Amino acid sequence: TEPLLQVRDVKTHFPVRGGLLGRVRGTVKAVDGVGFDVRRGETLGLVGESGCGKSTLGRTLLRLVEPTAGSIRFEGRELTGLSQRELRPLRRRMQLVFQDPYASLNPRMTVRDILGEPFAIHGLERGPAREAKVGELLDLMGLPRDALGRYPHEFSGGQRQRIGIARAIALRPDLVVADEPISALDVSIQAQIVNLLVDLQRELGLTYIFIAHDLKIVEYVSTRVAVMYLGRIVELADAADLYRKPRHPYTQALLSAVPVPDPEHKRSRIILQGDVPSPLAPPPGCPFHPRCPYAMERCRRETPPLYALGNGHTAACFLVEDEARKATEGGSGVL
Ligand code: SF4
Ligand code: MG
Repeated sequence: TEPLLQVRDVKTHFPVRGGLLGRVRGTVKAVDGVGFDVRRGETLGLVGESGCGKSTLGRTLLRLVEPTAGSIRFEGRELTGLSQRELRPLRRRMQLVFQDPYASLNPRMTVRDILGEPFAIHGLERGPAREAKVGELLDLMGLPRDALGRYPHEFSGGQRQRIGIARAIALRPDLVVADEPISALDVSIQAQIVNLLVDLQRELGLTYIFIAHDLKIVEYVSTRVAVMYLGRIVELADAADLYRKPRHPYTQALLSAVPVPDPEHKRSRIILQGDVPSPLAPPPGCPFHPRCPYAMERCRRETPPLYALGNGHTAACFLVEDEARKATEGGSGVL
């Protein structure tokens, strides 16, 4: 069956202005040639250090940020190039859950108005019918009915995120991009919110793109996982494959920082050198080479393509070139 979302070579570049005259001084390539499919009903985890372009990618896929180039197809329909008016009927089917429930809820609106707003925007359900829908949403979220007349500040962080999630799923979307939905919350309530998202997915048949930097939670929720570095996907695989046998040195480094309970499967620890380089001046060749413990001469000059390793596993590193040739039976191994 057709994937829900097909993303091809998407780029989101921003001009950087500076000086008194606000002249363009450079370009940030926040997303720089990203492609993958999202299958209906799955959770695609998206991981990487802060500043790698995860949030920009998530927003670009929903056309909340305009892509500079590339193709985004939702149920086969091209989203790039659609006007805001043409996008409107599709908006209700693609929603964003924000990282910060404090900032994303209007403090002057009651919960009734916050949850009624999606219906109002799309001209759906009025009066008692809308009130009933909003009440059902509260039940689904495990929030009390008397929440309706209250304001966001009257709730705990976890409850506020429940309100944010309720607003996102109010119109029964197909695709939800959850951008670090628990990282602003107290550790003690993170698991509740994750489990709520998992339950909702099952009940409502949602498809998720789950953005996070906590690799443990991503492993728990994801069907497949994509690892981003400096605006690109450097590895993508089924979650089990990625965690069991990561191929890209960056993925290996991220995972080696995650404690493993079973000492038999202890991962060798790779310490990442330095910080993520500025996306204003990405390194030539393999963008990871200044931090890679295995960098070769070639890595400073050439950019590795995404190699296909079988079973949908891809990695952008010259070290897997031979493995990819074998996996593609004498082909180039390049995806
Ligand atoms: Fe490291 Fe080279 Fe692989 Fe890049 S291509 S991750 S620098 S070994
Ligand atoms: Mg972010």
